[in-house]
Amino acid sequence: MDSSMISKIQKAKRYAEEPERVCFEHFAVTFRGDHDTYHVSYDQHDGWQCECHYFQTHGVCSHTMTMERLLGPMVERAWLKPPAEANAATF
Ligand SMILES: [Zn+2]
Repeated sequence: MDSSMISKIQKAKRYAEEPERVCFEHFAVTFRGDHDTYHVSYDQHDGWQCECHYFQTHGVCSHTMTMERLLGPMVERAWLKPPAEANAATF
């Protein structure tokens, strides 16, 4: 193995320890839950989507929260943001 390849491998190891360098723009996965399998997708601008019933009513679910735990700083934690309705509330 030539020295340039060794330095690339060393750099990759260092990069892999700094996940905040990576930001997912969009992706889709198949998530095998306890009771069913769901398609979960993510878009940097549109946030999470999951086809489970809980997500449809809450905008977040155990599947999207699991993905956030797995991917850490590489995805935005959309579920920590206040819902849009809260910003529009009148006092
Ligand atoms: Zn779900």
